[in-house]
Amino acid sequence: MLFKDLNLIDPLQRALTKEGYIAPTPIQVQAIPQLLKGKDLIGIAQTGTGKTAAFVLPILQRMHEKHKHVTPGFPRVLVLAPTRELAAQIGDSFAAYGHFLHFKHTVVFGGVSQVPQFKSITKGVDILVATPGRLLDLMDQGIVKLSGVEFFVLDEADRMLDMGFIKDVNRIVSMLPHKRHSLFFSATMSPQISELTKRLLTDPVRVEVTPQATTVERIEQKVFFVDQDNKDALLLSLLQQDHLNCVLVFTRTKHRANKVAQTLNKNRVGADAIHGNKSQAHRTRVMESFRAGELQVLVATDIAARGIDIEDISHVINYDLPNEPESYVHRIGRTARAGAEGTAYSFCAADERSFLRSIEKLTRMEIDVMRHRYHSQRAQDAVGEEAKPAPRKPRAPPRRQGHSTHKR
Ligand code: AMP
Repeated sequence: MLFKDLNLIDPLQRALTKEGYIAPTPIQVQAIPQLLKGKDLIGIAQTGTGKTAAFVLPILQRMHEKHKHVTPGFPRVLVLAPTRELAAQIGDSFAAYGHFLHFKHTVVFGGVSQVPQFKSITKGVDILVATPGRLLDLMDQGIVKLSGVEFFVLDEADRMLDMGFIKDVNRIVSMLPHKRHSLFFSATMSPQISELTKRLLTDPVRVEVTPQATTVERIEQKVFFVDQDNKDALLLSLLQQDHLNCVLVFTRTKHRANKVAQTLNKNRVGADAIHGNKSQAHRTRVMESFRAGELQVLVATDIAARGIDIEDISHVINYDLPNEPESYVHRIGRTARAGAEGTAYSFCAADERSFLRSIEKLTRMEIDVMRHRYHSQRAQDAVGEEAKPAPRKPRAPPRRQGHSTHKR
């Protein structure tokens, strides 16, 4: 089965070709024809299965078929996601697959200023991707109205419930028009989830994919338990091996990305950092040197890495583990492009141990532990408070009680 067999319109086919996608994934094969017919859908699928394209493509096609002018403040599509990371990734998918169409989208989430979000909404957006707390803030201020929503997607419903968003979701759903096209995605199905689908969906089709066919399984993954102070030494020792020739290193913050690149340079390893504080010109120059093989290592934060398009990354190294498990899947996916097999190494200090547990829960696999000279048994055995990062001092009091813990 190829994408061209799915009856997608030409602008979407062209966008898929531009992305380099030829064959749809199992969830896309099952979901796209049903959604193009206008059916409500329950998708049991996790990150890494291609579930985002499975809903973004048919929604764009149906929007295109009944073209309407956008009214500011009244989005036609609402996608709810539990985390800002996931919301941003969904926004990127609308941008990528909608490249040859002319819909506007925006992503709103908490923990950052409302001003740019407010501005883009009041200019008029067709597609709004949101985390529940910030959406309710914007609705309460009258900035967003949901009465024009034609397509509603609830993504990662199980995590939404785990994170305590159920009341917010219910409130948002109560403001949606009754006549709408609804899509529901969850990695797992519990009685509570099943109950929610009954309230949200009308005569839905159910599609389910097992996580077997995901990229995650094609990637050789190893975890190195190590104390924070030994991460540099471990990284340097790994980079001495010849086959680590095109390495993408992920850090949690921009500051740490700069520091790692500096340490590598001091030790005569060709490396540079890219992140949001660097100019576009710098970024372009760095990417060119990396592509040309002049730099062995590119150090990046999650956000900066999203725009990177490099085919031959030999290794992804998670210098820091991400606190959102789906970022792990996206990060390591950079090393297995176009069906290639890749390798991903993760460094895990004691205060990241809980992140590793969430990653293993999401990917439903146990990552092989590597023995090495900097091995930290304390990191491997960490539980409870020791397994989590020390709480950071809040910069400003959170706006909405109850959501602050989900924001970074
Ligand atoms: P998702 O499960 O939506 O998070 O997608 C996982 C990854 O697979 C993303 O990086 C997508 O860009 C990529 N992807 C989605 N559909 C396809 C496809 N048909 N062929 C190749 N890659 C895909």
